[in-house]
Amino acid sequence: MLGRTVASVELRGHRVSRRHVAGPQDLGDRLAGRRIDAVRRRGKYLWLDLGDSLGLLLHLGMSGQLLVEDAVAPDEKHLHARFRFADDGPELRFVDQRTFGGLALTDLDAHGIPTTIAHIAPDLLEPAFDRDAVVRRVKAKDSAIKRVLLDQTVASGIGNIYADEALWRARVHGERPAGALTKPRIAAVLDAAAEVMREALDQGGTSFDALYVNVNGASGYFDRSLAAYGQAGRPCPRCGTPIRRERFMNRSSFSCPRCQPRPRARLAQG
Ligand SMILES: [Zn+2]
Repeated sequence: MLGRTVASVELRGHRVSRRHVAGPQDLGDRLAGRRIDAVRRRGKYLWLDLGDSLGLLLHLGMSGQLLVEDAVAPDEKHLHARFRFADDGPELRFVDQRTFGGLALTDLDAHGIPTTIAHIAPDLLEPAFDRDAVVRRVKAKDSAIKRVLLDQTVASGIGNIYADEALWRARVHGERPAGALTKPRIAAVLDAAAEVMREALDQGGTSFDALYVNVNGASGYFDRSLAAYGQAGRPCPRCGTPIRRERFMNRSSFSCPRCQPRPRARLAQG
């Protein structure tokens, strides 16, 4: 899509553009004629840089897909937005079964970051990611290291799966208080998370069902490389101990009982 000029945007229903107060017609009108200067991402947000400090922010929600398709391809059942380009080349389509995702115009700051996501910290793979500063911020937290990893205002892009994989690689139990870890240990956890994210990207991501696909509709296969997440009862790839599953923050956490011993119980929860 880079360098291509939007000819028109068809928005179906109000839900996909619900964050654009003036409505879908107005949003479509504002996008027509705009050139896509950059396609960027931070954490779970994507945006198109449209020049003049204007961006189109996209969030996939739980089930959203961005697909690049020939105009002759039949419409998807849950097609919510269609971008046609001035070059008559492939379309960009936003397809979302549950429609928690959506798109909205946003101003971009001097670094090209949407002002509406200024509270989202740089993610681990961004040049703006300041590892030492993030280590210090994590060290200052009293809560469990996994909770801190999932906190998108500390570092973005780490979800439940990659948090578990990073903690397994760094041999740290997710319930250990972040502030009780040494700085080198915290750095090791962050490095492991970045490594997991790079490897996952190389393999197209982790597709647990057919909804999680790339722009060509293909699934990723990092699920085959998972050491801990979803592996309850299977041997730890490092020591052979069966992986355990525990409840944490209303979700499941997976870890190795031997490589990642639980912290001793604390009297007060911080
Ligand atoms: Zn182990």
